Amino acid sequence: MSRYLELTESIRAIHDYPKPGIVFRDITTLLGDARSFRRAVDDLVHPYAGTKIDKIAGIEARGFILGGAIAHQLSAGFVPIRKKGKLPHDTVRIAYSLEYGVDEMEMHRDAVEPGQKVILVDDLIATGGTAEAACKLLLQMEAEIVAACFVIDLPDLGGRRKLEALGVEVRTLVEFEGD
Ligand code: AMP
Repeated sequence: MSRYLELTESIRAIHDYPKPGIVFRDITTLLGDARSFRRAVDDLVHPYAGTKIDKIAGIEARGFILGGAIAHQLSAGFVPIRKKGKLPHDTVRIAYSLEYGVDEMEMHRDAVEPGQKVILVDDLIATGGTAEAACKLLLQMEAEIVAACFVIDLPDLGGRRKLEALGVEVRTLVEFEGD
């Protein structure tokens, strides 16, 4: 089986979760399989292996799991981007739109220094609203965003274009069309 197919098949589809009409792409099956987990991390970091990366910024919560492993692999620090009210020190905050209503995310104000090279990580990019807000937070801190990495792209929802419009390179491993 090809590498692409193996990775794709390690991701479980849950139909009508969390609500009717949505196909939830569940990466717990990928994470639970040693070979798939390693492959996903290896393939995401591959282009950046020789580059000095200061920080990996992971989006709560699945971005923490992948981001932690990627930070280790690239010998970079890890920065959590969290839902509001969870981080104990001084934070910078940004509001972003969800399908219904708005939410806010935060990172510690001292987590990234101006000019530091950062890679943003999450499991999946759909509309790109979440990752766009995270990029804006990092840009506000004057980070240099080297790339935004996701295991899964839902290309029909246009998230990649949103990040590219901010000048951010997007790297994804597998696509599910029609979602
Ligand atoms: P978006 O802001 O629309 O790009 O949504 C991305 C965030 O929502 C990521 O943190 C994903 O983990 C989660 N998400 C959105 N759609 C799905 C889906 N179909 N399956 C699993 N997670 C999803």
